[in-house]
Formats: sequence, structure tokens, C-alpha cells
Amino acid sequence: MTGPSIFTRILSGDIPGEIVRDTDRLFAIRDIAPQAPLHLLVIPKTEEYRNVAELAAGDPGLLAELVALAGELAAEHGDGDFRLVFNTGEGAGQTVFHVHAHVLAGALPEGSLGQG
Ligand code: AMP
Repeated sequence: MTGPSIFTRILSGDIPGEIVRDTDRLFAIRDIAPQAPLHLLVIPKTEEYRNVAELAAGDPGLLAELVALAGELAAEHGDGDFRLVFNTGEGAGQTVFHVHAHVLAGALPEGSLGQG
């Protein structure tokens, strides 16, 4: 069965979620299972791209907007430092195939990349 992604359903109010930003082409929500003191997801409104590689190829401008918004949110919610993660493919832990960036910040020690 296909239908709107879980993120689209949060944006439309179909299921609950904490939307922290809503722009023309993007929105951001708080991750329901945070893996850092700050854990947001920045998501294009379009479901056209399943992962960041498709987004980069199909609409690099939108990818640049997404990265800029991640930086803005990291500055708003913390000190501006952040880690940006795009899980790409099941083998890399992707579970929702509507491209999204994890914005992680706070208590991320050097060398912690890839743990978990
Ligand atoms: P990924 O595994 O990279 O596809 O990321 C999917 C993310 O969506 C995970 O970090 C989940 O915790 C998060 N997630 C799943 N359902 C919800 C929800 N209802 N509200 C907020 N975040 C969610």
C-alpha cells in the first residue's frame, strides 16, 4: 500500500508531530526518538525524492535550501554547531523513503560518527 509518507501526514495534521518550521518548500519537525539533545528532521514538502542522492540530482537548489535551513535551526535551537545526516538506503538505516536530513546537535563528541 502506498500513500502519503509519515512526514507528509504530520505536515497535513493527519498525525501529531511537532512542526518547528514551515517554509515554501520545506518543513522541519522534532524527531520522535531523539538521538541527541537536539534532533530535528528537515524535509522537502515534495515526496518526489526518496533520498539525498536523488534530491541532489533532481533539485540541487532545494538541497542547498535544506542545508541552509538546517544551519538556521541549529543556530536558533543551540549554538549553531550541528551534524547533518542523510541515511540513504535500508542498509544505512533509512526507514522513511521521503528524503529528510537529521539535524543533530549538543553533546556530540568528536569520533562519535557512526556509533549506535
Ligand atoms: P530514517 O531512519 O533516516 O529514515 O529516519 C526516520 C526518522 O523519523 C527516525 O529518526 C524516526 O525516529 C523519525 N520518526 C518516525 N516517525 C516519526 C514521527 N511520527 N514523528 C517524528 N519523527 C518520526
